[in-house]
Amino acid sequence: MDDSQLLRYSRHILLDEIGIEGQQALLDAHALVIGAGGLGSPAAMYLASAGVGHITLVDNDTVDLTNLQRQIAHTTQRVGQPKAESARLTLQQINPGITVTALNERVDDARLAQLVAQADVVLDCTDNFATRHAVNRACVAAGKPLVSGAVIRFDGQISVFDPRSGAQPCYSCLFPQDQKFEDVACSTMGVFAPLVGVVGAMQAAEALKLLMGVGASLAGRLLMLDGLHMEWTSIGVARNGACPVCAAK
Ligand SMILES: [Zn+2]
Repeated sequence: MDDSQLLRYSRHILLDEIGIEGQQALLDAHALVIGAGGLGSPAAMYLASAGVGHITLVDNDTVDLTNLQRQIAHTTQRVGQPKAESARLTLQQINPGITVTALNERVDDARLAQLVAQADVVLDCTDNFATRHAVNRACVAAGKPLVSGAVIRFDGQISVFDPRSGAQPCYSCLFPQDQKFEDVACSTMGVFAPLVGVVGAMQAAEALKLLMGVGASLAGRLLMLDGLHMEWTSIGVARNGACPVCAAK
């Protein structure tokens, strides 16, 4: 790190749990953020400000006026532009010293496998179950930790699925792929703006901790937020021995 980096990251370096070593681990890391919307905006902005050296943003959508109420990486001037590129501009303005790759594409299983293999941590910031399951399958297959967040209306949830432990559940253990979920997207159901900030920032916090190997992650726990009454609930979640995604691993 040069003098400017030492200054930029000084409030991290001052923390005993982080120090120069932890900050260097962040600078050397590659985070994959899937979705540059409500969760992906704050998550990626904190990863960028905190100095994650390479961030890859994936989103195939464009910025819409209805996104701006909560998707804080985007601006009124960028309505109509690809979200991944719009978010990249925001991240590079916050921190020009990192590499940000913007992928304006819809990712299938094969592409996800490729992208996940290159990342040290994966953040699921999408809003549909099909993509969530595809991301989970790729992370289990590649043995990469997955930080998963979701928000709808006034409710949020967050967990970490870490296949490296061998004992923790994967996303599919909790939410089986064959289960019929009502796939309710923010686009139709509404979402209270700051909740995506709360959950997205927590996804960044968990991702940074995983990259530095500090503290204890949310693996094996699901945190649920009732934003209307501002109550958090933490429940332990176990591995499903018959899970078709992770049981054979
Ligand atoms: Zn599983």
